[in-house]
Amino acid sequence: MNKILRYVHEEIVWQEVPGETSLAFTISGCPLRCKGCHSSEYRNGDLGAPLTQEYFSGQLKKYEGLISCVVFLGGEWHEQLRVFLAIARNNNLHTCLYTGLDSAPGRGALSHLH
Ligand code: SF4
Repeated sequence: MNKILRYVHEEIVWQEVPGETSLAFTISGCPLRCKGCHSSEYRNGDLGAPLTQEYFSGQLKKYEGLISCVVFLGGEWHEQLRVFLAIARNNNLHTCLYTGLDSAPGRGALSHLH
């Protein structure tokens, strides 16, 4: 069963991805436990609201022409993440994932980030 991707914050940001106006989602439940984690209070994956494809697509429509990128913080290659990255790419947006990993797991994972 696919676990639901949940987010605790959604905001427009300018600093996280240089040169881009980004819609940023902070995802709960990151499993990596990096030392000095900036979001340790969101480790519980039950926190926040479910991020549905319908809501996500609606937000991209709402900000159409105003944002150039979507960034996920703490998503950590959640099994659902590729779906949302693909939706963003289909809306001609750049995509970014803040990660504590050195590389993306799984074949072709990096192809979802541009
Ligand atoms: S990848 Fe980011 S959210 Fe996850 S533990 Fe590391 S610093 Fe925290």
